[in-house]
Amino acid sequence: MKKNKFSVIVLIGVPGSGKGTQAAFICDRYGYGHISTGDLLRALEATPAAPPDDLLMLAAMKEGKLVPDALIYKLAFQAIETFFREGHGVVLDGAIRTVEQAEEYGKFFAEHGKEDQVIALEIAISDESSLARLSKRKVCGTCKYILPPDSAGRYECPKCGNALATRADDDPTVIKARIERQGNKSVAPIIEYYRSCGRLISVDGEQSVDRVSEDIASALDVM
Ligand code: AMP
Repeated sequence: MKKNKFSVIVLIGVPGSGKGTQAAFICDRYGYGHISTGDLLRALEATPAAPPDDLLMLAAMKEGKLVPDALIYKLAFQAIETFFREGHGVVLDGAIRTVEQAEEYGKFFAEHGKEDQVIALEIAISDESSLARLSKRKVCGTCKYILPPDSAGRYECPKCGNALATRADDDPTVIKARIERQGNKSVAPIIEYYRSCGRLISVDGEQSVDRVSEDIASALDVM
């Protein structure tokens, strides 16, 4: 297992930029815990006994909007604390989508003495690429593996063999709303926030999955 000096890697990028795929790569290489707020929200949605107030807050997700901060903090902070308690760092995949969230997480990391161990990693792609990728994205309905972009014609997950699915919010109308609300215009202030704190590295996410992983490894291995 490789080492670097960070306890928290914040992945930043528009929908479809490869955050989930690269989070899995980083967790594998460095032994971090993977926290995807999208996955936590989808798991909550599939929990019949979930608090009704929490389920009400999920309505925004179906429309491609951001869900209320309170729910994000409740789910994410609990998950992060579990990994910290076990002595692991975390990769945050989509967990920070506004500057307000970045500031709130910043306070949370400071309370845990981790403020100097945070790095943001931007995976940069255009809104046009985001649209093209989301429109043909396939995920495994069981293990949630995200298939590489060149997987046209596949019906089974290459990892677990179960049937592939399309995410509910990868529907054309919702994709449009997500890019309007979560595209590069809304990502730019977050990038600026971490750049101004001296805590940003960027990779070109338009390259192949393997090339993006190599760039991430080259950046993190020297830190
Ligand atoms: P993802 O799986 O990361 O694409 O997230 C799916 C959806 O979950 C997003 O379109 C948002 O509606 C919601 N979501 C995920 N993370 C956040 C967050 N940090 N803040 C607000 N909403 C979020």
